[in-house]
Amino acid sequence: MKARIAVLPGDGIGPEVVGHTTRLLSVIADKHGHDFTFVEGMIGGIAIDETGDPLPEETIKICEEADAILLGAVGGPKWSDPTATVQPERGLLGLRQHFGLFANLRPVKTYPALLEHAPLRAELLRDVDILFVRELVSGIYFGDRREQGSGEESHDTMRYTRAEVEQVANVAFRAAQGRRKKLCSVDKANVLASMRLWRRTVVDVSEDYADVELEHLLVDAATMHLLTRPGSFDVIVAGNMFGDILSDEASVLAGSLGMLPSASLRSDQFGLYEPVHGSAPDIAGQGKANPIGMFLSAALLLRYSLQLEAEASSIEAAIDAVLADGLRTADIVGQGGEAVSTEAFAEAVIAKL
Ligand code: NAD
Repeated sequence: MKARIAVLPGDGIGPEVVGHTTRLLSVIADKHGHDFTFVEGMIGGIAIDETGDPLPEETIKICEEADAILLGAVGGPKWSDPTATVQPERGLLGLRQHFGLFANLRPVKTYPALLEHAPLRAELLRDVDILFVRELVSGIYFGDRREQGSGEESHDTMRYTRAEVEQVANVAFRAAQGRRKKLCSVDKANVLASMRLWRRTVVDVSEDYADVELEHLLVDAATMHLLTRPGSFDVIVAGNMFGDILSDEASVLAGSLGMLPSASLRSDQFGLYEPVHGSAPDIAGQGKANPIGMFLSAALLLRYSLQLEAEASSIEAAIDAVLADGLRTADIVGQGGEAVSTEAFAEAVIAKL
């Protein structure tokens, strides 16, 4: 198969993990007879430095001409002055909005090889396999926002339309049908009007998916249930902010933020694939980044945008095998263990392919 992949390394550890990922994908292409072209573009802080714009026109063009986008991470202390008129994160939000990527899929699973060093008891973590579906282009991150000139008052607005909730709910129900047929919808319907609309709409959409068992949780309760009974969840659907917070909380279950991938999708096969973690400025340039979240994001790209299921599974199996062999990056090494570099870990995964 021929595919064109837009590659946006971004800032901090972004370029480090992306570099190993394009190599991994090239090895997959050689092995399976595919022809992948990688076209690189700028986003985030580096793009601000070079062009003044966190999402330059040229980058949008590269992405429009591609079958899928692979992104590292954006941001860092250099650009984090809250009074700056333009922030690196605007590049990412702009990209999601430009392409209408309304559904953010974040799979979280635990690895038997990592359970002994996990912060929660191993018996709670066995067999955890959750798919978060987070609404990505609406809600409070995109609602009306105002900062009063006096600096004494500001507001953000959580706003949803029925159509917005319907489209993300449909993605979540369909995903549940392909898994263990359970969906948990998270809201704050006891307080927020937008969340009452959310719940009503999810209930209405559920009529088309009689085979999926639907549960509702208020977000405050959900934070607790996620840690006390993580193994009971299959698919969790939530709005933009609640989904953001809950899926970061769930990263603890996996062992490290560095392990989690994400896919941001719309109704066709186009998608943006990026790890859940940020640019990790505290470890950038030191060869300490865990490449698993980025590698698993590439696997999701193969699965969802290119329909290459066997190739996607081969990346996941290679990571499982390297972890089972005992190789660990610094973030998952546990007490007394010895960490390997990003490069050594990445090469070990590639060798397993
Ligand atoms: P972060 O995810 O960058 O880092 C949080 C902690 O996790 C750090 O201690 C970091 O070292 C560690 N970590 C993250 N990824 C890792 C990996 N692959 N391997 C090993 N350890 C890893 O979050 P932060 O520190 O809150 O934010 C840093 C910058 O990244 C900020 O500018 C923030 O705005 C930005 N950010 C960007 C994205 C994105 O690009 N999607 C997401 C979150 C944060």
